[in-house]
Amino acid sequence: MDYQSILKEIKLEIEPFLSEGNVADYIPALAKVEPNQFAMTLTLFDGTTYSIGCSDTKFSIQSISKVFTFTKALSLYGKKIYNKVGKEPSGNPFNSLVQLEYENGIPRNPFINAGAIAITDSLFTHYERDTFDNIIQFIKDISNNYELDYNEEVWRSEYECGYRNSALANLMKSFGNFENDIESVIKTYFKQCSIEMTTFELSRAMLFLANHGVDPITQKRFVTQSQAKRINAIMLTCGHYDASGEFAFHVGLPGKSGVGGGIVAVVPEVMSICVFSPRLNSWGNSLVGTKALELFTTKTGHSIF
Ligand code: GLN
Repeated sequence: MDYQSILKEIKLEIEPFLSEGNVADYIPALAKVEPNQFAMTLTLFDGTTYSIGCSDTKFSIQSISKVFTFTKALSLYGKKIYNKVGKEPSGNPFNSLVQLEYENGIPRNPFINAGAIAITDSLFTHYERDTFDNIIQFIKDISNNYELDYNEEVWRSEYECGYRNSALANLMKSFGNFENDIESVIKTYFKQCSIEMTTFELSRAMLFLANHGVDPITQKRFVTQSQAKRINAIMLTCGHYDASGEFAFHVGLPGKSGVGGGIVAVVPEVMSICVFSPRLNSWGNSLVGTKALELFTTKTGHSIF
């Protein structure tokens, strides 16, 4: 298939939508991002890549980091992790508090904020003060890229305004579903969210999930085949919060979005994809990114359905 031509067509077709939606501004440092950017990268199993747009521009991975931390927690704890977080779609916004209260402090899934904070808490139980170092090292290993770093300004900015995430952590603690010091865990969570990567790097990083848990290039295994299947299933059903159904309907791939404007997606046994465009739709997912992925699966027929 001529993927480069398909990417060119997609870029032309998404151009009229580049000024729709809004960048995330509840994290003040993210509001400064140039809003009309677009990039998309595909990575095949032999390492061949196809890119369009600003695929070398770093952006804040935000909630895409939740895929990596969940992967790590699943490989450390196995099924026991589901005592701490569920695996059902929430049908609620990513930062919602209400459901967490009536479900006794057990977050619905690892990809909403409460669930991801609970996962970081579980990593903290294992790694203590070295938790962030281990998270970023794991992302470096998975990406086969040892140059990654987090953005201090974005981290600080989110920390200074992180009232809602602190509330989620406090609520979980009040129900006994939180093991460590709230402040330390929240700081680690914000740091993982402020890691910066390009579409080129993120697309490469997701390849192991398209290949049953093994990086097809380095042959390193990160999770078992069964765990890789579960991660993909949860990305499909929960990766886009209360728009996960929309995403499955229009795109038809396991995927995970972040408020930095990135979306990663997996075409099982074929490739991994990352798209970036900072303006978000009302659910907090990249507006043009979602459209670009929809165009991609329509044009190529690469959907899991
Ligand atoms: N760091 C963001 C937050 O906790 C991540 C949210 C997201 O990307 N959806 O609010």
